[in-house]
Amino acid sequence: MSSRTSDVLVVGGGIIGLVTAWRAALRGFSVTVADPEPGRGAARVAAGMLAAVTELHYGEQTLLGLNLASAERYPDFAAELADVTGQDLGYRRCGTLAVALDADDRAHLRDLHALQRRSGLASEWLSGRECRRLEPMLAPGVRGGLRVDGDHQIDPRRLARALLTACERAGVVLHRSWAERLDVVRDRAAGVTAADGTALAAGQVVLAGGSLSGRLAGVPEPVLPPVRPVKGQVVRLTVPERYAPFLSRTVRAVVRGSHVYLVPRENGELVIGATSEELGWDTTVTAGGVYELLRDAHELVPGITELPLTETLAGLRPCSPDNAPLLGPTGLDGLLLATGHHRNGVLLTPVTGDALAHALACGELPDEARPFTPLRFSRSELPV
Ligand SMILES: Cc1cc2nc3c(=O)[nH]c(=O)nc-3n(C[C@H](O)[C@H](O)[C@H](O)COP(=O)(O)OP(=O)(O)OC[C@H]3O[C@@H](n4cnc5c(N)ncnc54)[C@H](O)[C@@H]3O)c2cc1C
Repeated sequence: MSSRTSDVLVVGGGIIGLVTAWRAALRGFSVTVADPEPGRGAARVAAGMLAAVTELHYGEQTLLGLNLASAERYPDFAAELADVTGQDLGYRRCGTLAVALDADDRAHLRDLHALQRRSGLASEWLSGRECRRLEPMLAPGVRGGLRVDGDHQIDPRRLARALLTACERAGVVLHRSWAERLDVVRDRAAGVTAADGTALAAGQVVLAGGSLSGRLAGVPEPVLPPVRPVKGQVVRLTVPERYAPFLSRTVRAVVRGSHVYLVPRENGELVIGATSEELGWDTTVTAGGVYELLRDAHELVPGITELPLTETLAGLRPCSPDNAPLLGPTGLDGLLLATGHHRNGVLLTPVTGDALAHALACGELPDEARPFTPLRFSRSELPV
């Protein structure tokens, strides 16, 4: 049986595993990532909204602090990653407009605005006419909206590709195989056994397996991350040159209780998302899912029916019981978590990389990440 030893082994090469590996390598650790297809995962599907303000939900004010910390780091993070790799990340500081189509939606948006103001966030209420002046493709029936200039976007596929390149340049070893089982030696995580039979030994193991994080064999039950998959379907349209600029910023709304958003990329892609479905590991694109997305998006921006439909796909958000990520040391020595980022994983990429690199080097989380310790779930406090 072949073997490899590193300071740090990261299980999972989605954006969260890759940013952890990159940041750890920059701290001087030797790092291996185990994943049969690094750089894919949910980022292949995600819209890439960096939406700390418009994604604020009641009861998630603690998460807001982490989201804002990450949003603040994005400009420097994106510049550093683009510089190291020479790649364009599609990072676009374009702002977001959240609009209402009827009286109920408007009341909901007014409540959200009040919550945002109480939380000290910058957002401005606009009339329907002011919304349409900003975005002329909006439906005439738009009743009002919130202009949030601080909520931006990045292309998650390009982000993943750039993180992969940055890892390779920093000397991270990519072991393209599944981690089949966590190896525990004398009550300490000591590495994993890969599906190809390789023993990947390490001083510390970071479990960053997205929605599969709770399924790695060998992890003692009390420290298994309580993460479940939440399916999201999206469709991608293409804006032909003659219609550009179709939309100049992200436009979103709640239509009949469902969230819908349209994210326009500089390369002409228009991402419409997303469903939120509790269906286990199913990633089927359904006629119903696509129908609902197009129906709701069409109510907001009727002109979408003219655009070529180029892609439909579904992915899985890794979701924890409180919708917030699980970061840092667990109840098992040598095992750390970086998972559970749910609908904010792209936004939380910079702060997660920094927090995990800090935890690997210092044995504890930095202040802004402390509330997200896996130990907050009681199972983790049980002896292993
Ligand atoms: C439809 C949709 C829209 C979204 N929109 C946004 C958005 O606008 N903004 C935002 O911030 N976030 C968004 N997200 C969320 C974001 O995409 C995720 O939170 C993030 O990509 C999760 O990254 P991850 O690396 O933790 O997990 P994943 O991307 O799931 O990656 C996990 C990786 O681990 C690997 N793996 C798992 N188990 C093992 C194992 N045992 N051995 C080896 N490898 C393993 C898998 O192969 C995979 O490559 C969206 C998600 C979806 C689905």
